[in-house]
Amino acid sequence: MSREEQAVARARKAFETGRSKSLDYRILQLRNIQRFITERQKEISDAMRKDLHRSEVTTQIFETLGVEHEIDLITSKLKEWAAPRPVEKNVMTMMDTVYIQPEPLGVVLIIGAWNYPWALTLQPLLGAIAAGNAAVIKPSEVSVHTAKVMEDLLPLYIDKELYPVVNGGVPETQELLRHRFDHIFYTGSTMVGKVIMEAAAKHLTPVTLELGGKSPCYIDKNCDLSTACRRIAWGKYSNCGQICISPDYVLCEPSIQNQVIAEVKKAIKDFYTDNPKTCPDYGRIINQRHFKRIMAMVEGSTIAAGGENDESACYIAPTILRDVKPEGKVMQDEIFGPLLPIMTVSGLDEAIKYINKNEKPLALYVFTHDNKVIQRVKEETSSGALLANDCLVHYSVSSLPFGGVGHSGMGHYHGKFSFDQLSHMRACLIKKLNMEGVNSMRYPPLTLNKLGWARFFILKSKDMGRIGRMALVSVLAVMAAVVLQNLVF
Ligand code: NAD
Repeated sequence: MSREEQAVARARKAFETGRSKSLDYRILQLRNIQRFITERQKEISDAMRKDLHRSEVTTQIFETLGVEHEIDLITSKLKEWAAPRPVEKNVMTMMDTVYIQPEPLGVVLIIGAWNYPWALTLQPLLGAIAAGNAAVIKPSEVSVHTAKVMEDLLPLYIDKELYPVVNGGVPETQELLRHRFDHIFYTGSTMVGKVIMEAAAKHLTPVTLELGGKSPCYIDKNCDLSTACRRIAWGKYSNCGQICISPDYVLCEPSIQNQVIAEVKKAIKDFYTDNPKTCPDYGRIINQRHFKRIMAMVEGSTIAAGGENDESACYIAPTILRDVKPEGKVMQDEIFGPLLPIMTVSGLDEAIKYINKNEKPLALYVFTHDNKVIQRVKEETSSGALLANDCLVHYSVSSLPFGGVGHSGMGHYHGKFSFDQLSHMRACLIKKLNMEGVNSMRYPPLTLNKLGWARFFILKSKDMGRIGRMALVSVLAVMAAVVLQNLVF
């Protein structure tokens, strides 16, 4: 039995004991993750520094704080979320108890990505635990130090049978994917997303795919360019652009291009000094493969700022590319690096047309003073999320679903959405064995007379709802009498 197979079998066996279903046990596990973050902050931060040159403060702000917030939220709301959810009834079921019961799916496979390896692996795990599942956790092998800390230390805090951590690269992930799970939660590229979905299809396993793509950013002429560019620069160059929702490219009219460049340059200097390479708040590219991939994208474009790089240190300076063409290399795939291409368009119409010609993005950004522009972008495009006059911050709002649409992903999570995503919403209808007379209407022989009554009660059920419960009981009694009479005669 391979290591991966053993982990899946262990998680399945642990799930079958039923212990993951107890609400107290779920809360205990979530609190243990909180304790892990508090007690192991140093190990977490050291690993992040080695993987992505991230400072401890950055790690806390961008990785663990959000996880801690979600733990707070889930532990305070779990009883409410897990409780039966009463639903509206129709006339035929008015006397029954009808509700949705969220229940665990079983064993979830969580495949994490390297750019925010703690947040993107632990957040789905919180959802899986909250919903009462077991989970096999597969951290990204690319953020190698973090994966090691996760494998070595996390099992010291949570139930290691229910939530095993399995490290490994593509072969190990593919071995895991051969086994049957009850849900697969994948974060990573669209290309690998297709591999995941294909593997899941063999077992009819549902998937959540948190993917990427090119997130456009339209800057309107009617805009405070200084503030807009500051926010865009923050969204673009945080984590060296290695963020799934970072603004991938800018669309703006030619008349404001120079000013956009000047303002983004100013923001770069304010944030990362004249020499970002020595600035503790500026990151590094994860590895040389990605360094080469990003640098190859610059070819054929005009550099308006930045461009300095050092392969041995995986350093690429915050870079702006100007007058980029749709056929330029940098416009073909998601950049996932610190390059900000600017493509000029004649105005909003052309920007919308360009956005719609491409795959639906994970995030779409618009900067303007004009509400009509925001409205038009909202109504005439589609994306996982739409933000006006800011970048990235929707990720931190637990009451918003986080996820893509089309090629940027399927399914969503955060807050209650994570709980719902990783639960089965079981439809429950509990009837008593009395009032059989009413039911006789649906039994053969099916007559036109019965059809008439069925039409009346089903199609008029909305009006019936307004009558109130007592009146309905009377109606049902009359109906039972009529049906019985029909049966007798
Ligand atoms: P990655 O290389 O770390 O891959 C992610 C996971 O997929 C890893 O655990 C890896 O082991 C596994 N994997 C890779 N190739 C595989 C294969 N052939 N078969 C099976 N498993 C495989 O991450 P990445 O793909 O480089 O991540 C970057 C992409 O992820 C970008 O497109 C980015 O936009 C996207 N992303 C999306 C989100 C989101 O929340 N939507 C978050 C972060 C990153």
